[in-house]
Amino acid sequence: MGRLIRPFSQSSMALAMLGLASLSAVCAATPATAADETAAPGRALSRCPAPADYASPLVEKLPKKGIRTFDRLERERPLAAHAPVPPGLRGAIRRVELPKGSRKLVALTLDLCEQTGEIAGYDGAIFDYLRRERVKATLFTGGKWMRSHEPRARQLIIDPLFEMANHGWAHRNLRLLTGTGLRDEIVGPQRAYEAVRADLLNDKGLAADQCLSPDASLRVPARIGLFRFPFGACNAAALDAVNDAGLLAIQWDLSTGDPSPTQSARAIADAMIRNAKPGSIIIAHANGRGFNTAAALPIAIPKLRALGFEFVTVSELLAAGRPVIAQSCYDSRPGDTDRYDALFALKPPRPAAPGTIPGAK
Ligand SMILES: [Zn+2]
Repeated sequence: MGRLIRPFSQSSMALAMLGLASLSAVCAATPATAADETAAPGRALSRCPAPADYASPLVEKLPKKGIRTFDRLERERPLAAHAPVPPGLRGAIRRVELPKGSRKLVALTLDLCEQTGEIAGYDGAIFDYLRRERVKATLFTGGKWMRSHEPRARQLIIDPLFEMANHGWAHRNLRLLTGTGLRDEIVGPQRAYEAVRADLLNDKGLAADQCLSPDASLRVPARIGLFRFPFGACNAAALDAVNDAGLLAIQWDLSTGDPSPTQSARAIADAMIRNAKPGSIIIAHANGRGFNTAAALPIAIPKLRALGFEFVTVSELLAAGRPVIAQSCYDSRPGDTDRYDALFALKPPRPAAPGTIPGAK
């Protein structure tokens, strides 16, 4: 399988160098309505949002096809400094090996994929649940998605439960890209993140939003440190490009299968309960293409907690053990995501195999 296990001390030190601290901005207690935030992102709020104010209508979950407003690439901008990922952490991280006898940590990851020619959804019921039950998650977010959902992106960036991560600019297959196209797909989300982050901070680098604590700027990282390949597909050149851009490549060892409309909430929950191991990285979707995910999490998460599992961000999981690293990207078997080459080399994309949704990984 080509997996390598790296020494704990080496990886922890490198993680610290990469600045992968989890977000921990603080909201004040005075509530505001979600409508306030949605209507005017960037202006000061008359009161700060409480968890209940974040609830979203079901219609916000539905992807909208045929909208190209956000297709253009993010403007070039000087980006926060970074160092390439060091040798011990290069490759595709699938899970984390935890020290014997340690806490049963797992990382729930949610992809917010958005391709060109669409505005993907925001599955608010998932985030309502995670906030209500205080479940941490890592959000692999498309750069385009951040721009087309900027009020939601702001909410997620300042929420200490969530770690922001990079899922490409427009969910392109990085195996098919080279040169500037490859770089823009990798760097685009960092540009979008920095633009949104800058809007959260004033010119002194302090929180401009009254709902952030005064030192929130110290705890909203300048850089995203984690990347997930769209479709879970990479090759050696794409892996190198991601690692050279200072991003750890985070894949998964537990697939919920939630992009399939035929995967019931019970089946998603069963996949999580049956397959979770200490150190697992779980993949699901929150862009409206995890069809039954919002119903599955309230089944799976209480059960997993009862079994002793604890949900942490990917960076927290990495800091607790040794990453298990493969030299290729795949879902359950090496090579199984290569099929997306044929599917997405063509315009328009052909339908995927029955029961799957193109672009959902
Ligand atoms: Zn995706």
